[in-house]
Amino acid sequence: MKPSATKEQVKEVVNMIKSSGLKADVSSGQFQTVIGIVGDEKKIDFDQVKSMPGVYDALRIQAPYRLISRSYISQDVIVKVKGVEMGEGCEPVYMAGPCSIENYEQLHRIGKKVKEAGAQILRGGAYKPRTSIHSFQGLGLEGLKILQAVGKDLDIPTITEVRSELDINNVAKYADMIQIGARNMYNQDLIEAAAKKNKPILFKRSFAAQIYEYLSFAERIVANGNKKIILCERGIQPLGGSFKSQTRFTLDLNAIPVLRKETPFPVIADPSHGTGRKDLIMPMSRSSIASGAHGLMIEVHDRPHEALSDANQAVQPEELARIIRVCNLIQKTISGSEGSFSSDFNGNGHS
Ligand code: PEP
Ligand code: MN
Repeated sequence: MKPSATKEQVKEVVNMIKSSGLKADVSSGQFQTVIGIVGDEKKIDFDQVKSMPGVYDALRIQAPYRLISRSYISQDVIVKVKGVEMGEGCEPVYMAGPCSIENYEQLHRIGKKVKEAGAQILRGGAYKPRTSIHSFQGLGLEGLKILQAVGKDLDIPTITEVRSELDINNVAKYADMIQIGARNMYNQDLIEAAAKKNKPILFKRSFAAQIYEYLSFAERIVANGNKKIILCERGIQPLGGSFKSQTRFTLDLNAIPVLRKETPFPVIADPSHGTGRKDLIMPMSRSSIASGAHGLMIEVHDRPHEALSDANQAVQPEELARIIRVCNLIQKTISGSEGSFSSDFNGNGHS
């Protein structure tokens, strides 16, 4: 729309899109309103749209993911969870805590330590995606209640994974942020149900997902009216996992700048699942921040011998504090320098 377009003119375009059986996404920026079409835009006569009052231009964006592309949203998106801001220009955000919520005492003890170490968001799984049915599957609803109670007691925002659509109401009710895990990146119904809760969503890349697939599924979150997305690179493996490696997965550092170039959303990395090894969390955290990540998700356990899941990749709270200190230093050194992401970005341009 033209900067001078009125609310009524915006509404008329939206109504026109809706009357063609499509959905409209309205993005109001500081100077201009941009209207995105969700669905098969071939149903729309672009010449007719161009001639409507208040319309500046009408164009087709060919990418399978348009609503999350920089061509559609030109400014970097800052996602807020309670008082914490994530994205370009913000301090790096650290989401830390145990892989699984085991009981109130455990989560409170670890939560207190990760907060003291500098983490701004507390993580903990209540619904665990597990390969084996014989492993600990998570405390479910009881875990969600513990998470909410600890978040309140320690005054820290919380994040937890939703594994099934059946649990989405409860996860949205008890947690401040919803995580969609690697195994569910392709689960359209779960993504759409979560998006509709209009809470911030941490959307993880699947193990063997191409970037265009990953972003095409992230598109569904915006198509359902939710722009509070944080993307997360959590490690990849070849289809079938036939490549024998020393690490659980391979943290794809390339993905971080690629995602940042393609989309305006915050991008974080998860070196815990990306490596599966506590001795590699520090180096891969450093590399992720240097690659342009806006934050990290890190699994922490102060008594790994008691941990009910992912003990091998859990760092101690003291190690988390060290990682945060070093990563903040790296981020400060890079930001504003000629080696910063925004200078790469402006230098190379993007499509
Ligand atoms: C997790 O964060 O606990 C988790 C299971 O992650 P992912 O979906 O990346 O495996
Ligand atoms: Mn885990």
